[in-house]
Amino acid sequence: LGALRLVLGDQLSDELSALEGLDPACDLVLMAESVAEATAWKHHKQKLVLVWSAMRQFAERLRGRGVRVRYVALDDPANTRSISGEIVRALAEEPLGRVIRTACGKWGLEDHLLALAQTLSVPIETREDDRFLCSRARFAAWAEGRKELRMEYFYREMRRATGLLMDGDKPVGGQWNFDADNRKKLPTGIRPPARLRTPPNATTREVMAMVSTGFDAHFGQIDTFSWPTNPDEANAILDHFMADMLQGFGDWQDAMSWQRPFLWHSLISPALNIGLLNPLTVCRRAEAAYREGKAPLNAVEGFIRQILGWREFVRGVYWLKMPEYALRNALDAQGKLPWFYWTGETDMACVADAVRAARDHAYAHHIQRLMVTGNLAMLLGVHPDAVDDWYMVVFADAYDWVEMPNTRGMATFADGGIVGSKPYAASGAYIDRMSDYCKGCRYDVKDRNGQNACPFNALYWDFLDRNEARLAGLGRMMMPLKTLSRMPEAERTAFRAKAAATRQAMGV
Ligand code: FAD
Ligand code: SF4
Repeated sequence: LGALRLVLGDQLSDELSALEGLDPACDLVLMAESVAEATAWKHHKQKLVLVWSAMRQFAERLRGRGVRVRYVALDDPANTRSISGEIVRALAEEPLGRVIRTACGKWGLEDHLLALAQTLSVPIETREDDRFLCSRARFAAWAEGRKELRMEYFYREMRRATGLLMDGDKPVGGQWNFDADNRKKLPTGIRPPARLRTPPNATTREVMAMVSTGFDAHFGQIDTFSWPTNPDEANAILDHFMADMLQGFGDWQDAMSWQRPFLWHSLISPALNIGLLNPLTVCRRAEAAYREGKAPLNAVEGFIRQILGWREFVRGVYWLKMPEYALRNALDAQGKLPWFYWTGETDMACVADAVRAARDHAYAHHIQRLMVTGNLAMLLGVHPDAVDDWYMVVFADAYDWVEMPNTRGMATFADGGIVGSKPYAASGAYIDRMSDYCKGCRYDVKDRNGQNACPFNALYWDFLDRNEARLAGLGRMMMPLKTLSRMPEAERTAFRAKAAATRQAMGV
């Protein structure tokens, strides 16, 4: 008897371990558009389009190679609406002797599928997702016995293990990390290269019509969709990035600019996270660009660190710490998410711009996510569940394993310091330094507590004030806490009052 080979919506890679050794004569590939997965959160319309269009095209490519595919579309009346329901139905209707699958990227679904294995009449073989460069077991071994998990040390191990940017056992350029060179503000007048966007192909247009009617209440614009939905389209945007953007990626990595959400960023995360691009191939291409003299080391090292370092690190943390990680709320934040995270209706120019990028493109770049929307949510004391929900909904690249450690770990410090060694808390001065937002904003970034003061300012000092005891042990918080301790009590009280009024006005 053949095997039922399960392929999920974020597993659309030819090299997927679940497809290894596939026998077209007797095996059957199962793919299902799951309503349960699509509506667990009200995902951005563009994310639904991306995943379903990419799934349909993946199935067609398999069929083109003579593979039998049981594809259960959303509007199939027999669709049981869940992955497990579809496995059970396929086994009932087809003579198959086992199920082969690749471990999935969501703790809840993985747990569910492992439990399902106990109830089926045939065995389920679960294979490692070896598209990631560090296996779960290897990360656990690396983490074993360490007092702190720091990305930088993990990243060095990964550089050694893959040989990326290595000269023998030494890092190329004599340094592991060139981050200090990658924090430049955009000079006036500089223009980022025009972006190659991907016009929706026929399958994508078909899915766009289905999502427009069936999922109208979901967040976001749909007609601006231009994400790659198959490997050819994904490779085209990668080629474009390597040719035109990689050179500037390092210098302007942390910069932000009004109505220019993409800058020199690669825009590959949606494709990477569903398997249309392979992370190792992407890193090798960036390395080749450096070795051929086409891009500087600070850009290439910075780019590779994001994928080989951060991406693998947050995934490792997720699997090491779940399910307890999802409950962490180290700063005891209990507030509600302000409504303008959904509407963009705020006079805060930086926040309005980040929400607009999310609405129009299901995208915002890292610093917008971290230092604008994430920072504000942390300073306001928004409950991490509400923050998680927003990030999960609004971005096309959001998947549990990568979204949660970034949100609960990096952006809000809800994990108490597992992902980062300190909260990324900042006042308006940081945003002013790294962007052109403040000069067009109704608020005054230099004003700390007046009528028109930038809301980030009082919120920042109030955040330190509220969390003084919790943050006291963190070495990297010593300086700001010292400044706080020297502040006259009257000023602290004024910040507290201003922050409380701001929170109330924002409906937190
Ligand atoms: P580039 O800036 O061009 O970077 C290249 C690649 O590096 C990205 O495509 C991504 O694969 C990887 N990368 C960079 N930073 C990270 C990181 N911190 N964690 C993991 N991978 C990283 N990324 C997601 O893929 N999905 C998410 O749901 C997600 N949620 C985030 C939430 C918050 C609060 C923060 C601060 C970051 C989040 N990130 C997430 C990480 C990062 O912001 C995005 O990967 C990046 O903005 C994607 O755009 P890009 O492809 O243009 O990235
Ligand atoms: Fe954002 Fe404050 Fe600058 Fe306005 S003044 S753009 S709110 S940081």
